[in-house]
Amino acid sequence: MKTYNIITIGCQMNKSDSERVAGYLEDLGYKWSDDKNQADLVVVNTCGVRQSAEDRAYGIIPMIKKQNPKAKIILTGCLSERKDVQRRLKDKVDIWLPTVQIPNLKSQITNKFQISNPKSQNCNYLKMRPKYSSKFSAFIPIGNGCDNFCTYCVVPNARGREVYREAKDIIEEVEQLVGKEYREVILIAQNVNSYKSGKVDFSELLKKVNNIKGEFWIRFATSHPKDMSYELIKTIAECDIVCEHIHLPAQAGDDGILKAMNRGYTVEQYKKLIKKIRQTIPGVSITTDIIVGFPGETKKQFNNTAELFKEVKFDMAYISQYSSRPGTAAEKLFDNVSKAEKKKREEILMKILRKTALENNKKYIGEVMEVLIEGRNKRGEWYGKTRTFKNVRFKIYDLRFKNIIGEFVKVKVNKARDFGLEGELVK
Ligand code: SAH
Ligand code: SF4
Repeated sequence: MKTYNIITIGCQMNKSDSERVAGYLEDLGYKWSDDKNQADLVVVNTCGVRQSAEDRAYGIIPMIKKQNPKAKIILTGCLSERKDVQRRLKDKVDIWLPTVQIPNLKSQITNKFQISNPKSQNCNYLKMRPKYSSKFSAFIPIGNGCDNFCTYCVVPNARGREVYREAKDIIEEVEQLVGKEYREVILIAQNVNSYKSGKVDFSELLKKVNNIKGEFWIRFATSHPKDMSYELIKTIAECDIVCEHIHLPAQAGDDGILKAMNRGYTVEQYKKLIKKIRQTIPGVSITTDIIVGFPGETKKQFNNTAELFKEVKFDMAYISQYSSRPGTAAEKLFDNVSKAEKKKREEILMKILRKTALENNKKYIGEVMEVLIEGRNKRGEWYGKTRTFKNVRFKIYDLRFKNIIGEFVKVKVNKARDFGLEGELVK
């Protein structure tokens, strides 16, 4: 029996794509192997958002080729269409598979080495049946690609223009999962706010998913500040199973940098949006993405981002040091902020974040929160997340306690940390 293994680098979208590749290969009769050094097929699902992610592919692929020379190596994801990557890894990779071409993999496995290079975006791959990696939480792609062309970002090149999946397909997938007692669905796309299928926009889609009968939560990512309408904010507030958490990447807190990034909003507009969200959705938590050291970012401009952090008090932030990406508009700008200065800026933001996140978390002390259990750590503590995407952990001393992974429980919070809460199970 032929076997396969998949290595996934990158974001939720890549994780979801890998689940579709797995479903596809199993339909072809391949079986999962835990050992990438034994598998007949090794799929490397790559990310090109930052140089560090790209470098991981350059590390992993030659190593697999060396340790498992008989395997066919398939490279998919965001590096699959980059000519320079193809040149660099040409002796190591057997099949180059652009993400949207995943449904055509069969013909490629049977052929010898080839590079397929179709430019056309299509939606078929989103229709593929995935092999979900979790038994209780599932990513549901609602679209692919991006039309925004933020100047630092490789995604519009790597994934192509926006394409959205029909609402009826999405609803069907959610219904099936809920029928199998999945407890969480995460609707994902580069920019969920731009979702459009016939007359259905993202607000409508959320309402439709919210109407599905069952015991589950709805999460979604990523929202773009320029496209987040009041209608959508109201919908999130009104839909009872849509979680009160919005991931709203600010990227910077300075108007000059936002403009240079082509983000399409000002700091004032971003702050107004946050205010509206907090007024409309009680208890909402807000997380963000930030890039430090964009070309030309002065200390003063960075300080404006630090000010935004102090003012908004994010619950979490994913802070990246700018890295120049091939084919982006910002590639032509001089990457003048030194590595050391980028690191320093990242640390400054982290320090503010730790403080404000802790402040936010202290407000939960004494409250009873619903938690979806994800697992149990080495110390024997159960852990999971609240609707507001807060990590919660607690101990149960009764050793006969049954497995509660994938279940909703109630936890009384008695301790707040910067990026997590601790508590005790409420019977
Ligand atoms: N669609 C999402 C995010 C896509 S990429 C959005 O609009 O926000 C994920 C994150 O990677 C981005 O939010 C950004 O913070 C970071 N990122 C993208 N390109 C980058 C680059 N060239 N250097 C550093 N970080 C980058
Ligand atoms: Fe990249 Fe901007 Fe599109 Fe997000 S919105 S994927 S950052 S181009």
